[in-house]
Amino acid sequence: MKTSQENIIKELNLKILKNSNKNIKIPINDIIIQECFDGEELELINKNHKDEKILLISDTNTHDILGAKLFNNLKNKIDINEFIWKNPINSEVGVEEIKNVSKNFSTIIAVGSGTICDTIKYSTFINKQNFSVFATSPMNAYTSANASLKFNGNRGSFKAHSAKGVYFDLSVISKCPKNLISAGFSDVICRTTAQVDWLLSNILLNTYYNAEPYDLLKLYEDKTIINAKKIIQGDTESLRYLIKLCTFMGLGTMIIGTSHLGSMAEHNISHYIDMFGDNTISTSHGEQVGIASITISKMQNEILKLNKPPILHKTNVPEEELKKIFGRENYNKIKKNFISKCINNEKAYNLNKFLDKNWQNIQNKIDGVMMPFNKFWECLGSCNALRTPSEGGINEDLYKEAIKYGRFIRDRYTILDFADDCDKLEMYI
Ligand SMILES: [Zn+2]
Repeated sequence: MKTSQENIIKELNLKILKNSNKNIKIPINDIIIQECFDGEELELINKNHKDEKILLISDTNTHDILGAKLFNNLKNKIDINEFIWKNPINSEVGVEEIKNVSKNFSTIIAVGSGTICDTIKYSTFINKQNFSVFATSPMNAYTSANASLKFNGNRGSFKAHSAKGVYFDLSVISKCPKNLISAGFSDVICRTTAQVDWLLSNILLNTYYNAEPYDLLKLYEDKTIINAKKIIQGDTESLRYLIKLCTFMGLGTMIIGTSHLGSMAEHNISHYIDMFGDNTISTSHGEQVGIASITISKMQNEILKLNKPPILHKTNVPEEELKKIFGRENYNKIKKNFISKCINNEKAYNLNKFLDKNWQNIQNKIDGVMMPFNKFWECLGSCNALRTPSEGGINEDLYKEAIKYGRFIRDRYTILDFADDCDKLEMYI
């Protein structure tokens, strides 16, 4: 018997059509959340991969919790082999390994999150194969079309493609390590800090902004927050909200073609830690984003709620320091990106006039999308998320550096830029 199978593509198509005049075609056929798939895998796979030559890939952990069961339920019924990836590594080496082992197959079924999902999303895109994924923890990336990979030690987002089917087995995900659940929670609840930054950039620099995906996120954000404690305890019905929120975040980036909606200053800090942290760093992406979004939420709530607008000056680029940190060659590369958001004297003058005239109005707009700091702090705490660098064992100096220089690693204008250009960044370092 089917246990409350929910295909949220159907719900989503209705919502998108209702909210938007554009007819958006989502390239994923099925996004299914179910209490337990036991015995129904064949039907799901046949729907999207009929008569294909399939390789099922898991790692030693995901094989134990789900991969082995899937393979047993599918072998002898369809053309399927399995590969257990002993040492999954997010790198060019990892991508090559997966391309190699899968070269004689037309489809890969991924079993896992993080490295497994992103590597397979990318390698199947390069090799022109299909893929579907069985999730093992809550995460945004299953439904996005980009892959987050570390090439030459640098993490970046690479164009890939989307899965045909994304399958969430609640009985499996509810038993995944708790830190994976709270990391998934942090990486999607940072919606508030990202939206404030993205809107601020739009207001001040007239950059592109699209609020449509946030309408989808709104449907489940409050429910996810209210049920945070139950989510971390593994309550499957509450977990459904978080999974939907993650799914919509991933789809939102795919629909509008950029990750700005959920990746601004808090992600700059996390990326900086990825770039310069040594091998003592054991925090995951979502954990780092949670810690960083606490810092960013505090900055946003304090600076953007000032009675009078801060006074901006021309951007000071600490060129020599940045060259030392990034190396000369990389410095020139990042400069090409960050230079577009630097302001000169004339721009600063005009912005100050604009802020002076419109501050109240800007505050009202920002207030509509910003979560109060105390609520945000409590919210992450209720899902057991890491909130401070020391809780995550992140070196204090590295973290301070990430706040100070993180603004320069991308072209996205954030509160880090605003704060530094009005001499308020030092207070947070
Ligand atoms: Zn993220």
